[in-house]
Amino acid sequence: MKLVAPDYYKKFKCIADKCKHSCCIGWEIDVDDDTLAYYNSISGEFGERLRSSIDTDGETAHFCLEENDRCPFLNEKGLCDIITELGEQALCQICDDHPRYRNFYSDSEEIGVGMSCEAAAMLILSHQDKTQLETLCDADEILWEEETEFIKIRGKLWNMLQNREKTVDSRIKDALGYCGIAENTASLRQWVSVYRGLERLDSVWDTVLDALENADENNLVLPQFQWLEIAFEQLIVYFTYRHLADSLDDGRFVARMQFAVQSYRMIKYIAALHFAHNGSIDIGILAEIARIYSAEIEYSTDNIEALLDIFEK
Ligand code: SF4
Repeated sequence: MKLVAPDYYKKFKCIADKCKHSCCIGWEIDVDDDTLAYYNSISGEFGERLRSSIDTDGETAHFCLEENDRCPFLNEKGLCDIITELGEQALCQICDDHPRYRNFYSDSEEIGVGMSCEAAAMLILSHQDKTQLETLCDADEILWEEETEFIKIRGKLWNMLQNREKTVDSRIKDALGYCGIAENTASLRQWVSVYRGLERLDSVWDTVLDALENADENNLVLPQFQWLEIAFEQLIVYFTYRHLADSLDDGRFVARMQFAVQSYRMIKYIAALHFAHNGSIDIGILAEIARIYSAEIEYSTDNIEALLDIFEK
């Protein structure tokens, strides 16, 4: 099957023990049936440890998290004991795949890395060239007509969003106009109240929302640094790549486009707030803001659904 990815994809590398927000902390990780059967076949002390660390009582088997929501196999050096003991091929499907996400078409697949991972966020936002898709695995593909049409429309949107002769804000205006979507006129404070009603992962997000609520929206302005404009371009291209394709299943293209733009805006507001407080901003700070937003909003199906519903009201 044909597989395509953004051109930065192959450069992704997990930073493991150097990761400050490891994906092995805070998430309940399901163990797929094949891996569970493999773990059950492991003998000796490590096999015992595997079995006693997996909860099989519920609908899906998952690792029992330890204190501070750590995966029981994440050791003090920040490394995975399963990899050390059995090798990378022993990871369950989720651990092996994360932070990758996929868009499935009838006869092809798109892959990318998600921004809830700090290494991925840094990779995406610091990519300098206009993001393009490259083929990782070639094969004849026969797509449905609506899939071909969707890819054509997304290509046109990317041409607008990557037009470096304009500011990112005005490119987004062009893209929304092309989709027949009116500008959202809700104030930042109104949006903060919407985001407050969503599911919460980390209490840090509340602190961010508090700060946004108390800010004067008119003073949240960022300088026009070239690197910042390029990073914002990568951000909106990422959201449209990752989230628009699902509209082929649920028909919510307009709401998904609004979600992509709103996600860009929230991250930009938070970046501007940081700049207002500190008088500076760099790519590391922006990547961290994007990581928090992605973990809180983008990695929660409930939160995405709630926002899509709001856009469709
Ligand atoms: S969040 Fe990313 S960099 Fe950190 S441990 Fe997970 S995959 Fe590696």
